[in-house]
Amino acid sequence: MKRLIPLLCLLCFLACNSREQSSTRGAEAESQPAEAAARPLELNPVYHQLYEAHEKYREPTIRQQRFKQADIEPLIQRLQLPFQTRKAGQSIEGRSIYLVQLGNGPKTVLLWSQMHGDESTATMALLDIFNFFSTSDEFDPLRRQLLNELTLYFIPMLNPDGAERFQRRNAIDIDLNRDALRLQCPEAQILKTIRDQTQAQWGFNLHDQSRYYGAGYEPATASISFLAPAFNLTKDINEVRGNAMRLIGLLNQTLQEYIPNKVARYDDEFEPRAFGDNIQKWGTSTILIESGGLANDPEKQELRRLNFTALMAAFEAIASGRYTQSNIQDYEKIPFNNNNAFHDLILREAQIQKNGQWFTVDLGFRHAQADYNNHKAYYPRATLADIGDLSTFHAYESFDARGYRIVPGLTYTKALPNLSALRQLDIAALLRQGYTTFQLQQEPKRQEWAEIPAEITGPGKKPSNEIRLNGNPSFLLQKDGAFHYAVINGFLYDLKKVGKGIPQKR
Ligand SMILES: [Zn+2]
Repeated sequence: MKRLIPLLCLLCFLACNSREQSSTRGAEAESQPAEAAARPLELNPVYHQLYEAHEKYREPTIRQQRFKQADIEPLIQRLQLPFQTRKAGQSIEGRSIYLVQLGNGPKTVLLWSQMHGDESTATMALLDIFNFFSTSDEFDPLRRQLLNELTLYFIPMLNPDGAERFQRRNAIDIDLNRDALRLQCPEAQILKTIRDQTQAQWGFNLHDQSRYYGAGYEPATASISFLAPAFNLTKDINEVRGNAMRLIGLLNQTLQEYIPNKVARYDDEFEPRAFGDNIQKWGTSTILIESGGLANDPEKQELRRLNFTALMAAFEAIASGRYTQSNIQDYEKIPFNNNNAFHDLILREAQIQKNGQWFTVDLGFRHAQADYNNHKAYYPRATLADIGDLSTFHAYESFDARGYRIVPGLTYTKALPNLSALRQLDIAALLRQGYTTFQLQQEPKRQEWAEIPAEITGPGKKPSNEIRLNGNPSFLLQKDGAFHYAVINGFLYDLKKVGKGIPQKR
């Protein structure tokens, strides 16, 4: 008994002491987020060095957003050690879907791109990441660290049949991101199988979003949007989802240097059929990255670079544990996506005559991609997407049209034989006289004259120049009796600046 008493005392002391310590830790944990939120995260300077060095790793054979599985297959097949590459399965139409594995570390990361066939930005970034890891240079210490700490699993282009047509859905028109539960499509089965086999701790769900989304209510595009998807209807935050939020906080801060205020986050409404939400539920900390629009980046090459930078920063932050310095408030400070915020062109406060009266209106144009050459190329086709008070909307290009009258374009009096006859005319001079529409006896394909600021119709056809919603009218802006600007196919041309020949966009 005598010998037991000191032992009991010791046990009691240890137990009390450990409770003490744990309660102290608890108090620290509670006070930490407020303090941490006040000071910015310390980013590793290597993130910026990677951004600067990206051009060296940019895959030179892929230079635009439209490419197909056949274009990237040889790039995947040529990968050598330390890469391990295998065919994970095939699409409905028999195109191979690959799994690329890299590294031997204990922390497992799964990335999949282009589940939607027309969302290719991240696939380009993954190819650049493969080139990065195929190189030896001043980043070798980083490479060694990442390969020792991480095992990376990549599925580049999960939906090759959709990519073949540059469309969202797969060959049987199913949205793979609504097939996570029913698993009817082989592409969805492949993703589910690899997730289950790898039991990845981290998941990156890589998409593109509309270029018309804004970041909050600022006049800023949502060029990159994030989401740590909810895993239930009540949007609870457990450790798995909390870690995804922390890492997003770090990635947001990384990207702010290059696209200030142009980072947003998705609404976290739970979607029971989507992969991101379910993969979060299955225990993988899941991060959705959406590439949106960025001014002067039509082929998304700067967005590709930002994807490369964000993913490489994520790898480093997971390998080093740096993401734990971030907190959930950092995530919650990111503004929400504003889903209908932008137009390509807004003319503000122009005068329009309707039913014999004059009205002050804003006109908002958006461009869609009309594709040809087996979906490999496209030309922009405009729609008058909105008309009225657009003062709450932003635009890639805004024009103050106060004092200008909208005048529908005229049809040129003489029908022309063909396109080369039209090219020989002084189109700028004709626009200044109000002619926007030309009748050609041989009507060319739209893509053959996409760069000409004119509307072409067949002989005897009337132009569709009425200013109405969802139309694509050609018109002029008139002031003091002269035409100063033309709007054709949703592009604005300054007629004062143009000389002889084909005018350029403003
Ligand atoms: Zn998508």
